[in-house]
Amino acid sequence: MKFVYDFHEGNKDLKDLLGGKGANLAEMTNLGLPVPPGFTITTEACKQYLQNGTHAEGLTSEIDEHLAELENAMGRRLGDPSDPLLVSVRSGAKFSMPGMMETVLNVGLNDESVAGLSRQAGGNDRFAWDSYRRLIQMFGKTVCDVPGEEFEDALHDAKQAKGVKDDVQLDAEDLRALVGAYKKVFVKHTGHEFPQDPRDQLDQAIEAVFRSWNADRAVLYRRQERIPADLGTAVNVVAMVFGNLGSDSGTGVAFTRDPGSGEQGIYGDYLANAQGEDVVAGIRNTLSLTELERLDKKSYDELLQIMATLEGHYRDLCDIEFTIERGKLWMLQTRVGKRTAAAAFTIAAQLIDEGVIDLDEALTRVTGAQLAQLMFPRFDLSSEPSAITRGIGASPGAAYGEVVFTAQRAVELAAEGKQVILVRRETNPDDLPGMIAAQGILTSRGGKTSHAAVVARGMGKTCVCGADDLEVGPSSFTVGNVVVNEGDVISVDGTTGRVYLGEVPVRPSEVVQYFEGELDPADTDNPLVAAVHRIITHADEKRRLNVRTNADTGADAARARRFGAQGIGLCRTEHMFLGDRRELVERLILARTDAERDDALAALQPLQRADFLEIFREMNGLPVTIRLIDPPLHEFLPSLEELAVRVAVQHEHGQHVEHDEQLLAAVRRMHEQNPMLGLRGVRLGLVIPGLFAMQVRAIAEAAVALAAEGGNPRPEIMVPLVGAVQELETVRAEAEKIIAEVAGDSGGVDILIGTMIEVPRAALTAGQIAEAAEFFSFGTNDLTQMAWGFSRDDVEGAFFWRYLELGIFGISPFESIDADGVGRLVKIAAEEGRAARPGLKLGICGEHGGDPDSVHFFHQVGLDYVSCSPFRVPIARLEAGRAAV
Ligand code: ADP
Ligand code: MG
Ligand code: MG
Repeated sequence: MKFVYDFHEGNKDLKDLLGGKGANLAEMTNLGLPVPPGFTITTEACKQYLQNGTHAEGLTSEIDEHLAELENAMGRRLGDPSDPLLVSVRSGAKFSMPGMMETVLNVGLNDESVAGLSRQAGGNDRFAWDSYRRLIQMFGKTVCDVPGEEFEDALHDAKQAKGVKDDVQLDAEDLRALVGAYKKVFVKHTGHEFPQDPRDQLDQAIEAVFRSWNADRAVLYRRQERIPADLGTAVNVVAMVFGNLGSDSGTGVAFTRDPGSGEQGIYGDYLANAQGEDVVAGIRNTLSLTELERLDKKSYDELLQIMATLEGHYRDLCDIEFTIERGKLWMLQTRVGKRTAAAAFTIAAQLIDEGVIDLDEALTRVTGAQLAQLMFPRFDLSSEPSAITRGIGASPGAAYGEVVFTAQRAVELAAEGKQVILVRRETNPDDLPGMIAAQGILTSRGGKTSHAAVVARGMGKTCVCGADDLEVGPSSFTVGNVVVNEGDVISVDGTTGRVYLGEVPVRPSEVVQYFEGELDPADTDNPLVAAVHRIITHADEKRRLNVRTNADTGADAARARRFGAQGIGLCRTEHMFLGDRRELVERLILARTDAERDDALAALQPLQRADFLEIFREMNGLPVTIRLIDPPLHEFLPSLEELAVRVAVQHEHGQHVEHDEQLLAAVRRMHEQNPMLGLRGVRLGLVIPGLFAMQVRAIAEAAVALAAEGGNPRPEIMVPLVGAVQELETVRAEAEKIIAEVAGDSGGVDILIGTMIEVPRAALTAGQIAEAAEFFSFGTNDLTQMAWGFSRDDVEGAFFWRYLELGIFGISPFESIDADGVGRLVKIAAEEGRAARPGLKLGICGEHGGDPDSVHFFHQVGLDYVSCSPFRVPIARLEAGRAAV
């Protein structure tokens, strides 16, 4: 097996083997762009090293060969005292992991070759000593784990001793002395001298880059970004070019379009007389590329030409790292660049217009997650508020409110009708009530998988976490010299992670205005809206999956329809039993005779019929799946504690209120240890005579009523929690009888009868169940709970953060379908259901219906539709289109 590739041998499609950086360096080399010569050691070599703790067989001699070739090409030998070749040793994994892994520059310098380097540079001692001190610093930090601050302190001391502020004000003598100081730091921490043998430096640096794959921060980053842990990193060994040779040299980064807004036109930063990371580190203020044009027109023109070449070649926005050595431009890196959600859509549309990509490809350039970001309300930043700090945008949204520091205070103030932001160092399960009460959450510790982040995302609540320059006290927090006390108002932006003092006004996003029909895409000069319109329209043309919505009211149904829903996949009837109607439900539960029960049901029936009629009207012509009542009936009664207290107080006053006593007795009788697994769903229909019948009759009558108005109702009755075909058969027989009765001589309306698949047994006996069902709808929330054996309401706040930290799952299985386990049940049921009843209609109505990854899974499994909350409908449309191209 070959472990080392010269830049001439690779290409951009070899990212698995050469990493992103190596593959693209090779691509640029083969395009004839000015890349310093070098070679790439493969990810495979890294994997073997990490597994065995030593180099793969043959690797060392391959490195020897390629190093010799590099030396020949450059006409210099590595670390030659009189005329040294220097190299950089750079990590580069398949997926970019910014700042996670390591790079060592100037490898090959030692006490002797530093003089040779100076001669090479025309007697530039300052440059040579500056390069040497950088090597010791980077090598010490990266290869030998010397704390970086120690070097920074020494540099700081040197500047202070001289009374200067800027690195460039240190002269050759100062830097030579600094090298001495750095070497002492090195010995102090490692117990040995800084290695003088250039080849030894190179080998150690290569091994350090291999090891950096498993550094804590890299492991954590991969978990957060869901990057597989076993890919390994490649190592690039590149001949050094120098941006620190004087004012005619420098280093910079550039983008071929603005990665923030997507606007056309180049964009970048340049730093004269600097090397490597100085640009990102923000040591000195950078210059814009326009200023580079003034300083060095020739290099600037060449850079522009190269950017055009790269865009043409990659057919996308590219970002670039370059260095200018005495007026000669060198390319050190490129890749298809990261961008904001808005830029992703805008750039995709530009590229269509430029004839670079077609609409199908445009669909692959954007994601549902990006569209979701564009749909959150945003702060109106026209007053240009300045952020007091910035953390990790962990759960998007824009929220403002009074600052509180305890969950209890959050609950108290929320009860007074106030908006609050809960600020904590970190949150734990005890904070849950406060998190629910708050508009937003801000923490100073923890990343995207911290408790605060996971729970907030689960609740759809705005959260910024890990704002680590925040000092959180018991009744105030400080950031820099700003003190924020309890009761002060702040605004937090869960998308950008920014935190503002005071109330920043919020406005609905333009993309939502477009979906609402308030912004006409043909008529707007907003390029983002126009881009979203074009791309989602194409997704609609391409997708095979239909998208329905979960809606229980006419208003929700109407909004979802504006957002593009093609029907209702889940209408929950229990929401129609709340409010004033609770009393009727109580009467039903307390009924002692058939007559009393029938009375209660008869009172509920017209109310239900009116609800259904309203929904059928809004969804006229489109299918509406109505789920018969699902939750345990005691959920409609007051809690046991509440009633027990009420009755005890009555007794104390010598009163006996019969209704309350009966209710208490009923609640006691109906109490369940585990309501999730108790008397609910189809079981209610089989045990409580007349309950399902009432609902079926209301549905059938509402449908007939709409048809009589000239409408086109398309009801589908869905039976929840079925585990055995016999359950469904019993309910179905009764329902069909009622539907026929309602139809009478009029002929009635076609009503499908189907079931949810949400109990594992139903999935495993789907072939039998399909005999009695005209459709299946996968209830993936319950199916997930029951397949994993954990209750969703109890686990997310209690221990999911820990499971995510441990990598037991990369994302909550309630957020994104667990394809291996729960997904397997879906697959089995889909296949066996369709085998038993060809053409069986299959849908999904859990939260997963609006989750991008899950939508792709459901497309692959061959479902007919997904159903999700109204706001997720556009996201599902887009992802269903993406799944189909
Ligand atoms: P990262 O992956 O963190 O961007 P890089 O490997 O790209 O790390 O190295 C960081 C910087 O070091 C580069 O942007 C470049 O400025 C500098 N650098 C790397 N290799 C060389 C080289 N051969 N010559 C000059 N500068 C280099
Ligand atoms: Mg880089
Ligand atoms: Mg369910």
